[in-house]
Parts: sequence; structure tokens; C-alpha cells
Amino acid sequence: MPYLQAFDPVESTSKPAHWDECPHRKKTRAGVPPEQPLLPHQEFLEGPFPHTHVPEYRFFSNLNAAQIQAVRQRGTQILAIIPHGGGQGLLKRAKVVASAIESFLRSLAFESNGRKAFNVKVYEPEVKKMDPNNPFGKPHAFFVDLGPNADALRKFLLWQEVFAVNPSLSFSVLPVDTREASWKVCVITGDDIEPNATHAYLVQQRTLLLTELKKRIHDDFKLLWKTAQLVLNSWNVHGTYSELATMFTDTFMLELTTADPRSGAPPAPAFILYAKPLTYDKREAVKWRADFLRVHPRTGAQPLRLGLDIFPVDKGSVDCKVCKADVHRTADCPLANTPGWIGVTPELIGKDDKETAGREAAKEPGAQNPVDAAQDIFRTVVKRKKRTSEPNPSGVTKRGGRTGRGGRGSGGFGAWAK
Ligand SMILES: [Zn+2]
Repeated sequence: MPYLQAFDPVESTSKPAHWDECPHRKKTRAGVPPEQPLLPHQEFLEGPFPHTHVPEYRFFSNLNAAQIQAVRQRGTQILAIIPHGGGQGLLKRAKVVASAIESFLRSLAFESNGRKAFNVKVYEPEVKKMDPNNPFGKPHAFFVDLGPNADALRKFLLWQEVFAVNPSLSFSVLPVDTREASWKVCVITGDDIEPNATHAYLVQQRTLLLTELKKRIHDDFKLLWKTAQLVLNSWNVHGTYSELATMFTDTFMLELTTADPRSGAPPAPAFILYAKPLTYDKREAVKWRADFLRVHPRTGAQPLRLGLDIFPVDKGSVDCKVCKADVHRTADCPLANTPGWIGVTPELIGKDDKETAGREAAKEPGAQNPVDAAQDIFRTVVKRKKRTSEPNPSGVTKRGGRTGRGGRGSGGFGAWAK
């Protein structure tokens, strides 16, 4: 029997400690639904989708300090908007993007707001340093100022989170003040992680790797002491050094996925190590991680070993150019792989697995001037916007009725990144 997540003991009998708190496992539209916007409004796919976890420092990285300060001063009336497939390349068309998002948000009217929409304003990121070779580089987020009394809109946006309207209007809305680091610790690769191995083999291999990883802390007194200190300081628990370190290693979880080898080789099976974060302090976290992974200045992280089998650490990357999650590859994006998805896809941004050197080269000169094509799509979207003057009293939703990836043939939207 091949590996089946449903039969994995970590899903039932031997869940890691605090696993239910892991933000990478959460879904959108969780909990009691808040007040819904009145109909009609621009259609979007409802979901639920996997939640994307982005810590505050990632919103602010490569951003002008004055803008960071201004965003912080506004507090909770500001939300982050992550255009799918965005990054520095998209910023060439930032004004069009901001205006399309703004029009969409102004189409959402609420009963409690006198059946009107809120007068929101979307701001583009002010980049600190541009890198022409990194079209998907940070900053990734735009910011929306909802105004002072827009609680209904704020609650709805955060609950829905993902808005896939069409391939040129597809984004996530996230709170800015997320002071919890990612649970991802590292990516473990190796020829011996066999996707076609049996379920039992993979579960056993994972158990052995987890034991090795835990031993790194429990066998190294300095690291054990440091880990215990961090647990004591940030988890509000007590115990001996050894007990505190165990509380931390009990949250370890290895999830099977695929990674892009840094060598440029094709994607390969990998494990992501998750653990409950020890600290939100970036400097402390980096220092702890370097000690744990035994990072050498020249050779990087020390590989794991099971007998003669070697498992390189940090030699594969797992991040998504579509939704900006750091726990899956672009081609595996669960948003874009949702049945009926109508937003930005890996194909549209040229990051699906079919990418080859030849295809890239062919795209490079921009046969159709794709950036202009992208801009045209945005213009169309802006023109098509509808103000909600006559909400549909029947409450019957029209949402979710569209299927297929309508924008595929729309002139190389991949485009955004060029
Ligand atoms: Zn994704």
C-alpha cells in the first residue's frame, strides 16, 4: 500500500503535541460565519481553502521604514492583501492592481453599514530595494485601510481570506499583526525518501528521522539548555531543562511533500520538519536554528544520517509563488489545485512543473508584450465592477457557479512577473 495520509497515525492516535494549533493546518471560513456582504457583488470562489500563515515580519521585509511605521500606527484597520503570483515584477503595474482590488472591496456592501459598501483605500508597497532578477521577490503585500468603523468588512475579509474572482483578480487578505513565526523548521531531502515506497516503510522512516532530530537537542547540553530557556520564556510553562526541551521536541512533525532542489534538478520527495515556534525574535530564532541544524559557514546544514543513508537538510526549497505560503511548492499550491479554481495558477505565472529552459527562453522576448496584456485584463476588470445598489433580498448566492480556468488563454498572464 502506498503512503496514505488518512491512515497516518499522526492524524489520529499519535498526534504531535499542540498539532491542532499549527497555523499551516488551518482552513479559511473557520468558526461562526460573520455578517455576509449583500448580493449581488462580484462573484468569487467560496472555499474553504487552506489558510496561509504569514508572520508580521514577512509583510514588512524589504519595505520602506516610513511605510512600516504608518501601517503600524493604523493598527487593526489595516489589513494585508497578497495578490496571488505577486512580487516585485507585479509592482510595475501596482496602481492597476491596487485599483482593481479597491473596486472589488467597494462592491461589498453590508446591512449593518446602512446597506452600503465601505470607503476603503488600497496602498501599494513602498519597496526598499528592487532586484531586477527577482520578479517574485518581496515585498508581497499591498495594504488596505478599511477606515475606522469597518468591523463588518474586516471580519468578513479575514474569515473568507481567499478571493479568487478571475485570473487577474485573485488575492488573500491577512491580518498584519500576526506575531507567530512559521512552524516550518527545515526541509529534508534525500534519494532514500521514496514516494513509491510502502506506507509502512515511509511511516517507519519518518519515525527514525524524528528520533535523530530529537536526539540533536537531547544529546547536546548547550542546545538543550538554550531550547529550554526559550520554551520557558515564551510558552508560559514550567519544568526541568529536560522536561522543557521535551515539551518542544514533542511538537516535532515531519510531513511528506515535494521540494525544488537548490541545484535546479527536478522536484523531489522531501519532508518538512514542523515545530511549535520557540520565539518570535528573528535574531534568536536564526541563531537557534543554526545551532540545531549544525550549520557550517561553508557547507551549510549538517545532513541527517540513518546508517549509510544520507538526508541533506536545507538543500531543497518549498515555497509558493502563487499564495506565498512557505509549506508547499508553487506547482502543488492547494489554492490553485482546488476544483473550479478561477484565480491565478502556477501555469499563468510560468511556474508549473512543465517549465523547461527552452520554454523560458521562448517566453523571454515577450512576443505579445505580456505586461501590457496583464494591464488590459485589469482595465477590463475595473470597468466591469458593479456597485451594490440593489442587494438581492432573496439571499440566494450566485457565487461559486463558475468553473474552469477561464484565463488560461488570455495572453500570457505570466506576464505579471516580467
Ligand atoms: Zn500556494
